[in-house]
Amino acid sequence: MSQTAPKTNGANTDNTNTHVKNTQQKYICGSCGHRNTVELRQPIICHACGSRILYKARTKRLVQFEAV
Ligand SMILES: [Zn+2]
Repeated sequence: MSQTAPKTNGANTDNTNTHVKNTQQKYICGSCGHRNTVELRQPIICHACGSRILYKARTKRLVQFEAV
């Protein structure tokens, strides 16, 4: 009888999936409100106005702050 190696549950493909899009973060400019996509190793500066005050956009939903 020959022994067969135990099969993995296909967790290999799952691993590469979460590995790709984690290098980019979305930031919202504090002064002009422009949404910037900044990579982790790049300096966090607004591409629209050059401000360095950016807020992290954690939610995936669209959130708008509008003065009434
Ligand atoms: Zn800005």
